[in-house]
Amino acid sequence: MHRAALLALLCMLAAPISGFAFERSDGTIVHCEVTRDGESRVVHEVWLGHGDLGDRHPALGGAAAVVRPGADGWPVIFFDSVVFRAMLASDPHMSDFIFYHECAHAQDPKRDEIEANCEAYLELDKLGVLTPERLDALASTHKKMLRLPSRYGGSGEIFWERTLSCVKSRRDIGLR
Ligand SMILES: [Zn+2]
Repeated sequence: MHRAALLALLCMLAAPISGFAFERSDGTIVHCEVTRDGESRVVHEVWLGHGDLGDRHPALGGAAAVVRPGADGWPVIFFDSVVFRAMLASDPHMSDFIFYHECAHAQDPKRDEIEANCEAYLELDKLGVLTPERLDALASTHKKMLRLPSRYGGSGEIFWERTLSCVKSRRDIGLR
């Protein structure tokens, strides 16, 4: 290969991959849409990190994904591609859940972690993909996170418990 071409290829590999669509674990391409002041836009997604597992991207602060305002003020979802690659192999349901969790933050920046999880649950349920097996898998993936920052309730167990009680209260008031 020509040296310049090789260099260009290497640069491409090193640069974050970005786009406007997310491939769910079932192969369905979805996107996250936000509306502000009557204007709707598809959220830009940026995939960071190409190292080995454990080499978490510093921009993500150790999270698998985060939402941050982009240069134009609209939200951008940043994903850790290393973490997601491993997750797709072991807990594919979780990568879908995280996409909807981040989308919930993007759609309303005031949502806290419990509310974002609650939205992700309700969205997946609405899509009809929350089978009992998937719910069990989601619960156990959450419970594997023994320690979490306090905004997540301090542990995965409490995080999931609070998510479920949020879902229940949303249903009690008949929102979905
Ligand atoms: Zn969150």
